[in-house]
Formats: sequence, C-alpha cells, structure tokens
Amino acid sequence: MEKANNEFNLDRKMKVHNFNAGPSVLPNEVLYKASKALIDFDGTGMSILEIGHRTPYFMAVMDEARSLARELMQLDDDFEVMFLHGGASTQFMQVPMNLLDSGETAAIIDTGVWSSKAIKETKNFGFVDVIASSKDANYTYIPKNYTIPPQAKYLHLTSNNTIYGTQYHSFPQTDVPVVVDMSSDILSRQLDYNQFSLIYAGVQKNMGAAGATMVAVRKSMLGKVSRKIPTILDYNQHIENGSMLNTPPVFAIYISMLTLRWLKGQGGLAGIEKLNEKKAALLYDEIDHNPLFRGTVAKEDRSLMNVCFIMDKPELEEEFVKFCKKEDIVGIKGHRLSGGFRASLYNALPMESVEVMVEAMKYFSLKKV
Ligand SMILES: *Cc1c(COP(=O)(O)O)cnc(C)c1O
Repeated sequence: MEKANNEFNLDRKMKVHNFNAGPSVLPNEVLYKASKALIDFDGTGMSILEIGHRTPYFMAVMDEARSLARELMQLDDDFEVMFLHGGASTQFMQVPMNLLDSGETAAIIDTGVWSSKAIKETKNFGFVDVIASSKDANYTYIPKNYTIPPQAKYLHLTSNNTIYGTQYHSFPQTDVPVVVDMSSDILSRQLDYNQFSLIYAGVQKNMGAAGATMVAVRKSMLGKVSRKIPTILDYNQHIENGSMLNTPPVFAIYISMLTLRWLKGQGGLAGIEKLNEKKAALLYDEIDHNPLFRGTVAKEDRSLMNVCFIMDKPELEEEFVKFCKKEDIVGIKGHRLSGGFRASLYNALPMESVEVMVEAMKYFSLKKV
C-alpha cells in the first residue's frame, strides 16, 4: 500500500514525513496526476483551471467525485452528495439555516472548539440544547451519558476532534436525525453512514484540497423550514443544479475526485481502515511504553486520525521537535490550544512515516532517560 503511494516520481524531496493536521498529506499519485492536469487536462490542450465548469470535461469530474463519495460510503437513495464552497465552518450556519426552524431545538454534543462553533452559529437560527460536554476535562474524552430529547429537530456531533485527539468509536442510536461534522475522519473507516441524516466535511484533511466542502444530506430532511433561505445557501438549490449553482471550486473538487479514486484503489474503506488501525496502534503503543511520552485523552476515545501526546518533561519538547525535523518528520507540534504534540495519521500518510516517527521517539528517549 505504501509503495503504491510512492511509485509516482514527484520532483520534490521524497522522504518528508508529513504529520500536518490540515491541510495535510495527499497521495503522491494524486499530486502527480493533478500536476499534469494543471498543464494539460486529459489531453484537451487546456489546464483544468482553464476549462468551463459546465463543459462535459468538468461535469465528468464532478459526477465522478459525487458518485465515488456515494459509493465509498454506500449511501442509500435518499442521500444527495454536494461539493460546496466555504469550508466546514460555513456548514456551522448552513445546516441550521436549512434544517432548523426558529422555535425548534437542535441538540448538540460539545466536544471542543469545532462543536462550540457549531453551537454558536446554530443559536442564530433556533434553540440549542447542549446535552453533553467534555469541557470539564479540557475535552479529553467523548461524553457517554446523556439523553437525547425526542423533540429535538436533530442531534449534531463532531465525529473526530482534530485538536484534542478524541473520536467517537460508536454513535448514539436514536430516532432523532443525526448531523455529523466529519471533517477530520471522513472516509477513514467503515461505518454505517446511512445512520446519519447529514454528513459534512471540509475536504482538506482526509479527502482532498482546501476550498471544497462535501455535504451529504437526506432529501427527506429538506424543505421543512419556513424562513427564506438565500439561494446560494439553499441545499435544495444546489441539489437541483448538481452542485453547479455557481462556479464550483473546480481544482479542489478535481483533487477530491483523484483522492477518492485513489481511496477506492486502496481497497475502499475496508482497506484504508485496516491501514489506519495499524498506524494508530503502532504510535499509541510507543506512547504507552516509552517513559518520555504520555497520551492525553481517555484510551477508549483515542482518535485514529489525530494522536495527541505530551512529555513529562516539557522542557524537552522543543528539542524533540528539532530532532524530528532533522529526521524529516514535520507537523507534529500540538495545536496552540492543547500544546504538546499532535501527529495526524490521515489516510494518505504511509505506514513508513509512522515507523520512522516511532524510531525517532525510541532513539530520543534512549538518549534522555
Ligand atoms: C478543520 C475542521 C473544521 C473547519 O474546517 P474549515 O474547512 O477550515 O472551515 C471544522 N470541523 C472539524 C472537525 C475540523 O477538523
């Protein structure tokens, strides 16, 4: 699998181990093909940036991106898949604008910065019931005990908390429709994606390049609010126009399409899940056994995507980062809110990069302990 990722000869340093949290590592194969398409898209004599979005050339890209996303998640026919502008952050307000009437209540589980932003924006459109929060422990766990009010219009949750390194490993079973922000673990594992009513993700972490947001929504959820929705923010308008209501972010969608093709070639979600589990297990195992390092979140809620850890001797942190840089390991500094380290192990990160990281931790610790 790692080989397939590296067989494309890019004109850049090949050995950088990129643990960036987002934007983040992409498969070499995707970058290679995209670099060609930047000059000449599929032999058209034009760059992908130079063709009209309504030409058959780009329509084919859009169709393939949408249908691959649908296929990989095995979505049922009630779902529509869109590629929109504005990042996941726009969805914090676009979701309630389309789904929540004023006077209605959205239940939201607060698992950190991204959920808090969803809470803030949702309040502009209706009532918010924060039914659980892990703020009391600096968001180091996923809340488990809560009741979902049956009258809630929907329940919003953040499946993977990019900053703290927590992830839902099971989802609440409820009759209330579930809306999920999957920006940082979209398409990283096998799930019953049909248990959700709306799935959104900024694509720059696990399925493409910054500039596009994927939204998969059940049609049966739409058209039920009384407010007037501005055309460009109306899901129904986007669906009717095949995500072509205005000029879509063509290059970002093209990169997503290539990334989805690559993912399918990795054995789809079953294949990538196996690899992601192996990568995370290797790194967490080192964190748990190396005397210098310590994990920061509840073990049962550990994220397979963003691995957060600290040192018992914080004065060594900077030295470790420098040491890693010498080994071509980049992007491991923790988020400014949580400090320490965060290694992001998104789909496109090869196993080899995790092996190099673990070696570096072992070596550093032998010198220091
Ligand atoms: C990065 C991230 C966002 C914000 O995404 P943008 O595309 O930058 O708006 C939202 N939610 C989660 C879980 C994220 O990781």
